[in-house]
Amino acid sequence: MSAVPATDPRRPAEEAPAPSSIDRLTGLGNEERLREAVQTIVTERAADPAPFAVGLANIDGFKPINDLFGPAAGDEIICQVAQRLATCVPDGAAVMRIGGDEFAFLLPLVFERKGAERVGQRLKDVLAAPFDLGERSVRLSASFGFAIHPFAGAAFADLMKSADTALYRSKRRGRGQITVYSSEIAQEMKRATQLEQALRNAIMAGGVDVHFQPIVDLRSDVVVGFEALARWCDADLGYVSPDVFVPIAEERGFIDKLSDMLLRKAAEAAMDWPRELFLSFNLSSAQLTDPSTAGNILSIIRSVGLSPARLELEITETAVMTDTEVAHTIVAELRSEGVRIALDDFGTGQSSLGRLRDFSFDKVKIDRAFVSRISSDRVSEHIIKAIIAMCEGLGLEVVAEGIEDFAQALKLKALGCGLGQGYFYGKPIDQRATLRAITERYQDLAPVAASA
Ligand code: C2E
Ligand code: CA
Ligand code: CA
Repeated sequence: MSAVPATDPRRPAEEAPAPSSIDRLTGLGNEERLREAVQTIVTERAADPAPFAVGLANIDGFKPINDLFGPAAGDEIICQVAQRLATCVPDGAAVMRIGGDEFAFLLPLVFERKGAERVGQRLKDVLAAPFDLGERSVRLSASFGFAIHPFAGAAFADLMKSADTALYRSKRRGRGQITVYSSEIAQEMKRATQLEQALRNAIMAGGVDVHFQPIVDLRSDVVVGFEALARWCDADLGYVSPDVFVPIAEERGFIDKLSDMLLRKAAEAAMDWPRELFLSFNLSSAQLTDPSTAGNILSIIRSVGLSPARLELEITETAVMTDTEVAHTIVAELRSEGVRIALDDFGTGQSSLGRLRDFSFDKVKIDRAFVSRISSDRVSEHIIKAIIAMCEGLGLEVVAEGIEDFAQALKLKALGCGLGQGYFYGKPIDQRATLRAITERYQDLAPVAASA
């Protein structure tokens, strides 16, 4: 929070605000106005304290919208957002704009979590309708964080910090989330910060590892490649799942550092394998919004000496959806160099079929959720059957993920699924164990280290 000149706390709330506390673009109050209004309500209620709430709203992915449509359209959207928020806050409440795409609310009559969530939901709904930009319209969502005075902080700065923590948590959980601050949430965020620090250190020290899980040809049970999976064991925090630390690196903006290190390690390991084995590497969704990703990946594998034809990149539908144009460019550039693209976790996202038409993929990985139920659930079996038929028609390879037993493998083979992966064929193992396993299988081939 910035330093602010002294204000008269006794000024009634309805008095016209000073120009210094007005946001020029939207005509709403600014952060200074919010501070004054909070101060006023605290003073008014000094004798008989009753809780009230402050809230923050931040537009999701506003920067790409601004970049795509230009700053004038960005301003127009901000004004429309301001208008919608101002008309739909509850009686007695106030809306301010306190940053580029950030708004704040003062809710004098909201005194507990449920009430704050209701307001959040209402504001979220009102922003869901398309925004009119003359010739085109734009859809957007916002994330919300609320804090209740005095529990979440008696002083203005503390209260806003709590609201910010709540907003931050919403942002971490994806788009359009609503969080009301509580001590549990503060605890959760604290742990995330600890993890972040430890992870940053581990990345600097090269302490995050890659393990490899075999991908087999289901017709012959022969290993055709390996998926690289990140592994991190911290001295204090113990084993931390990539499902936990990858999102932290994404949200806190250092996924490219982590990913570069992992790709380098994985590519170096793959240089010791026979050249017909491919390396499959997971790209995070954040990387597909960064135009430098393709060049970066290519330069890493070139410096290691791995041929692009041996590299496969796994991307998810959500990744493709975030910033379709940039994602298209990245995928096209990589494919033109011979890198193959696999659509990961297929079947769990939204509107999968359209995505297959719009994007050029080489492979589809059927999510474990379907494979694990294939023996017991006819619906899952039919879904898998349909995916296999569709991919055949589109000329795409199919990998079934998470095969855990013989029965599942048998069924997938019978359905004509080309490739498989899962504990039944091998758990992820470290670089040395992988090389050992390969050498055992390939013992009658030429020394593997000679291959490129
Ligand atoms: P994913 O890409 O879907 O990876 C497959 C996950 O399923 C892995 O979990 C793997 O260990 C697990 N798995 C494989 N076979 C079986 C099985 O038969 N049964 C069961 N129950 N699980 C199986 P893991 O290694 O914990 O990775 C979790 C997720 O973290 C990955 O899901 C991926 O989204 C992400 N991730 C892992 N490594 C990286 C990485 O290097 N970069 C990025 N961006 N994400 C990664
Ligand atoms: Ca994967
Ligand atoms: Ca997967």
